[in-house]
Amino acid sequence: MSDKIRMTTPLVEMDGDEMTRILWGMIKEELILPYVDLKSEYYDLALTNRNATDDKVTVDSAYAAKKYGVAVKCATITPNAQRMSEYTLKEMWKSPNGTIRAILDGTVFRAPIIVKGIEPLVPGWEKPITIARHAYGDMYRNCEVKVAKGSKAELVVTDKDGKVSSQMIHDFYNTDGIVQGIYNTDKSIISFAKSCFNYALDTKQDLWFATKDTISKTYDHRFKDIYEEVYVNEYNEKFNEAGIEYFYTLIDDAVARVMRSKGGYIWACKNYDGDVMSDMVAAAFGSLGMMTSVLVSPDGAYEYEAAHGTVTAHYYRHLKGEETSTNSVATIFAWTGALRKRGELDSNTDLVNFADRLEKATVGTIEDGVMTGDLFIISSLANKRKVNTGEFIREIASRI
Ligand code: NAP
Ligand code: MG
Repeated sequence: MSDKIRMTTPLVEMDGDEMTRILWGMIKEELILPYVDLKSEYYDLALTNRNATDDKVTVDSAYAAKKYGVAVKCATITPNAQRMSEYTLKEMWKSPNGTIRAILDGTVFRAPIIVKGIEPLVPGWEKPITIARHAYGDMYRNCEVKVAKGSKAELVVTDKDGKVSSQMIHDFYNTDGIVQGIYNTDKSIISFAKSCFNYALDTKQDLWFATKDTISKTYDHRFKDIYEEVYVNEYNEKFNEAGIEYFYTLIDDAVARVMRSKGGYIWACKNYDGDVMSDMVAAAFGSLGMMTSVLVSPDGAYEYEAAHGTVTAHYYRHLKGEETSTNSVATIFAWTGALRKRGELDSNTDLVNFADRLEKATVGTIEDGVMTGDLFIISSLANKRKVNTGEFIREIASRI
């Protein structure tokens, strides 16, 4: 017992829902607790507990992440109408990820886990492509209306002294139509830029950023200018020292270059671009079960999780007593990411080494041909074997 790895600072642990909650318990029991004297501050973000605490538990967990600097999160249900009745909820609680992101003010980085036998659909991609999505503003905080024929739409801005300026958007003199208003803030874009530059330094990878500044000469151009300013003032020298590059281009050019690239860089995307491109990149690298995600705040807090949801379909089968073959890799890597970061911040080499060992054992299991159903159907290995949820985790345990 006493030879377990000790921790000095607690890890913020955010438990969740459905199949991923089952995985969570197995991972802790079989892959972490036998080796690590786990010190965690536990928050139960299960929908039932969010409902019981009027969602206070989510807010508390986010402040804990801010305080300690490292958190690991299980996937959670974002309630919709169907969940309201399934769980007899007091309210349709907001997405926990949205709440946590708003408190940490962070940027989300998503990266695929690469293993032999699961070849990306783009043959040239040898290394992971990490997508950094600016998860604030633009179309996701829009104001949009239908406009009747004969209407004029104007963009009106009232400054702090009450002075009004307005510009015509469109005169709908001969047809009905639609109008949308979107915004972003310098503050949020600066945070986005800093999170990306910091993460690039952290992971020693080049950073690419792209917008449509040739068409959007004020809006997108502001993103470009802010990135340039932050880079020149605070990061240029650090990037030179680390031997990495910051590279800006047009979004169209970026897409073409990404397809021709070998991977191995971070691609910073505006909100919509990140939403769409992260799904494309995830699909091209194989399975949602192999995508990790980390939220990095501009003041250096890290929250690790799997990119996928609670895998509801598998959970319902599990409840009926049927066998499941759910991929736990992304959730395991959320744990290893968090333990490694905790170890780095606390100069705890044993903890960092353990994270490396657990990742190696996980990748090794799949490369030995032992895998869950989602990977089994896409793996090119000749001697592959499909195992169930529990067997997969026990196979990893035997390789640590
Ligand atoms: P999902 O849980 O990601 O699952 C969608 C499908 O993808 C699954 O049915 C399964 O396909 C496959 N899949 C995803 N992860 C897998 C894994 N680890 N192993 C094997 N297969 C996997 O998305 P969803 O069904 O749209 O959402 C379910 C719940 O999760 C919702 O309540 C949603 O609100 C929540 N959610 C939470 C987060 C988060 O907390 N970050 C993110 C997204 C969604 P097959 O059924 O074909 O095997
Ligand atoms: Mg998307």
